Amino acid sequence: MFHSAAVKLTTWYLAIIMALSIGLSLALYKVSNQDLDVNIHRQNSFFNFLPPKDQQILNIQRSNQLEDAETHLRDRLVLFNLVVLLVGGGVSYMLARRTLEPIEQALQGQSRFAGDAAHELRTPLTAMQTEIEVALRNPNLNKVQAVEQLGSNLEELAKLETLSDGLLALVGDRRADDYKAKVSLKKSANQAIKAITKSAEAKKIKIVNQIGELNVKGNQPQIVNLITILLDNAVKYSSDASLVSLAASRNDKLTKLSISDEGIGIKQVELENIFDRFYRADNSRSKLKAEGYGLGLAIAKQIVERHHGYIDVRSQLEKGSTFIVSLPSA
Ligand code: ADP
Repeated sequence: MFHSAAVKLTTWYLAIIMALSIGLSLALYKVSNQDLDVNIHRQNSFFNFLPPKDQQILNIQRSNQLEDAETHLRDRLVLFNLVVLLVGGGVSYMLARRTLEPIEQALQGQSRFAGDAAHELRTPLTAMQTEIEVALRNPNLNKVQAVEQLGSNLEELAKLETLSDGLLALVGDRRADDYKAKVSLKKSANQAIKAITKSAEAKKIKIVNQIGELNVKGNQPQIVNLITILLDNAVKYSSDASLVSLAASRNDKLTKLSISDEGIGIKQVELENIFDRFYRADNSRSKLKAEGYGLGLAIAKQIVERHHGYIDVRSQLEKGSTFIVSLPSA
């Protein structure tokens, strides 16, 4: 598909180049011929003193010279246009490929995303299908087993819901949202903490909010979502009874928010990948069984980028991680 689009675009570019080149050549040819004509007539007038017979011979010689000069010019212009056609063809093809490259990459990214999403959706769907089929094949299925079965299906459905929410958050177009509101970091953090209190309490993890009265410029619900994602990870990837802390500081144009945990940490080689969609670091060395689809940090990064901010991470294995988000100060 891209080859044919590149060929089409090349044809267009080349048509434009050739139209310009041929147009200019024709104009040059016309102007040069007119100049030659004028010059020859002017020169002829110098030889008025010669007898008419000599003048006639001179005229014939001059017309021959004129014809030769015209033919020479025409041949040169044809050659020039052939060279333009060849070089222009090559350059047009290169330009066409360059124009199409970002579009090609974006489309490849989209289809990779759709493929990855479909793959992730398949896992809980297949699990549910197998469980239901096994249950249906059991002629002695009793009520207790049926309830257990339905409970398990509900769990898989909840996972599917999380996944579809994550996918929607990633593909949703939020450019029209207001990003200029004055957002209190302290209030947003408190809202995010509320959202994950249950999971933190289940692991007896203490969350300390040390954020002062600092405001950033942005979209409040999205900032709450961003902090929730980072807090959720901090809790998910920490052992029981550890500490998660939030702090913030302001320097002129940017306000820095940091979320630190005492969790399992991230390997240095994996740090650059954790913000990629569907990327999950290898946590096999840890006893923690944290579920997820590798979408949280991709969404967090997208939110930060929409705010023209930055997100960074520092981490040490077995010691903990700190995610630092810089947002425009308000
Ligand atoms: P998910 O948590 O669903 O796997 P994320 O995109 O939120 O996806 O995170 C990507 C990966 O980065 C996680 O799988 C995990 O390995 C790693 N990670 C993220 N946050 C932390 C953290 N606070 N501590 C340790 N590892 C983390």
